[in-house]
Amino acid sequence: MLLSKMFVPTLREDPSDAESISHKLMLRAGLIRQISSGIYVFLPLGFRVLNKVINIVREEMNRIGAQELLMPALLPKEPWDETGRWDVYGDELFKLKDRKGRDFCLGPTHEEIVTLIIKNTVNSYKNLPILLYQIQTKFRDEIRPRFGVMRSREFLMKDLYSFHDSWDSLSESYKKIFNAYKKIFDRFRLKYIPVEADSGAIGGKVSHEFVAESEIGECEFVVCEKCRYAANVEAAKSKLIKPEEEKDEPLELVHTPNIKRVEEVTSFLKVPAHRLLKSILYIVDGESVLAIVRGDDEINEVKLKNYLKAKEIRLATEEEIEKHTGAPLGFTGPIGFNGRIIVDKRVEGIKGGVLGANKKDYHYKGVSFGRDFESEEIVDIREVKEGDLCPVCGSPLKKKIGIELGHTFQLGTKYSESMKAYFQTKEGELKPFIMGCYGIGMARIIAATIEQYHDDKGIVWTKEIAPYHIIIIPLKEDEKILVDSKEIYKKLLHGGFEVVYEDRPLSPGEKFKDADLIGFPYKLIFGKGYLKDGLIEVKRREDGEVFKVKPEDIEEFLRKEIYES
Ligand code: ATP
Ligand code: MG
Repeated sequence: MLLSKMFVPTLREDPSDAESISHKLMLRAGLIRQISSGIYVFLPLGFRVLNKVINIVREEMNRIGAQELLMPALLPKEPWDETGRWDVYGDELFKLKDRKGRDFCLGPTHEEIVTLIIKNTVNSYKNLPILLYQIQTKFRDEIRPRFGVMRSREFLMKDLYSFHDSWDSLSESYKKIFNAYKKIFDRFRLKYIPVEADSGAIGGKVSHEFVAESEIGECEFVVCEKCRYAANVEAAKSKLIKPEEEKDEPLELVHTPNIKRVEEVTSFLKVPAHRLLKSILYIVDGESVLAIVRGDDEINEVKLKNYLKAKEIRLATEEEIEKHTGAPLGFTGPIGFNGRIIVDKRVEGIKGGVLGANKKDYHYKGVSFGRDFESEEIVDIREVKEGDLCPVCGSPLKKKIGIELGHTFQLGTKYSESMKAYFQTKEGELKPFIMGCYGIGMARIIAATIEQYHDDKGIVWTKEIAPYHIIIIPLKEDEKILVDSKEIYKKLLHGGFEVVYEDRPLSPGEKFKDADLIGFPYKLIFGKGYLKDGLIEVKRREDGEVFKVKPEDIEEFLRKEIYES
């Protein structure tokens, strides 16, 4: 296509409201525009990239025997009531009413709907397993839309659902899908790692996230460079180190006037941070719950929430702390606390500890776990830290961040049971379907690709998803240059290449700037050099390498470069 006829509104300057490189470059290269917070238009160039992403994902899904369908975005409330998610999903769910006052939502994910379909159509083990997927628009009222299309409120997801008659069958499909995911991200040339994930509110057991390496991103995970253990912080474990042998000390109430924060208490009482036990009051589905970790640890609220199987958890307010403990913020502790107490595993066995006394300006010293306070709920609720030891091999763990590209879950029977979706087994029994679900964000793939493939001039597209592979740039208003470059353009078009011709009245510098910003993998340059030796200068965007190619060889050269390497 002629660039003068294309709708590619590029920007010279960095947009001020874009935080991440991919967001800036997608705006500047004319791929997207924002309509409202977290809501974007894909302009023609961006839409070409998006379609290429979709095609690759679709090919790999079809290859493993998954079948594509299309479910609606506008969904009735009833199935969501059956699974309880109308409430559990919280404020992220976009809710609306029709003209008769009936409740609907805009689907953020489709477990309920696909389960409903299967419930009404499949009744025998003979028809299982079934793998159904769609590439469809999802709606989530994200609390913090960020990084452009990476975390938006309306986005395209590939969501696959699998239905089985046994856990073995689920496990077999899970492996197949896991491998298909690897193949997909390999085809995008993304640097990524699969990490063990928490299966959280969605239910189920085994779960993985595929995380792209990146400087930005909202997925925090740990990896062991020795044995390759990798897990999202919400699921990460570390080797439990028991506190060193400590002696029992007498319990003592000490005056700590206005001394509240960890550092203040530890320096005032001259105890190491791990001896101070942080007691944090949460309100969990309306009930107060006290969670205790060591002073040098932090609570991971997702771990806590999952353990409690809670719909909602939040920190108690200062008034609630006073009401439930009798003391202001800063002096909370388990001794004398009347309610549920959850203790982190690393707190068990501590002696000579320090705790808030539930009395203004007082702490306890010399606290022994088991003697002065106890809990039957000793669980892993701490956040794993850099340097903690790998739960598998004991080497130090590294903490990283990245972009979650996709997620796979073994769901089990959570949805089928609550929605009474049963099938008949070989023996004639009725059993709930065993399910899995598997998502990939289409636009996140684009954003992650740009995060990994760019330089200071712009995007460096991989051949797989570049909007076009080639741009022809005539540098002078010279008859021979114009005629010959047009001829090559026609020849390449005819040969099926994805090629753009730069015919806008711009200076050579401006033409190069836009070509590099948009990131065409190959520039065919017709300038002085061509007039001199009749060779086309081909410049590869990826590494800047320049090739001089005879016009009659250009097709073969490009075919090898683009399709055969
Ligand atoms: P996150 O933790 O980033 O919010 P999620 O766990 O909510 O992701 P899933 O529900 O597993 O995501 O959705 C499957 C995939 O859809 C994700 O792996 C991601 O690629 C994509 N995705 C999720 N939320 C968004 C969003 N707000 N904008 C764009 N893509 C998204
Ligand atoms: Mg989310």
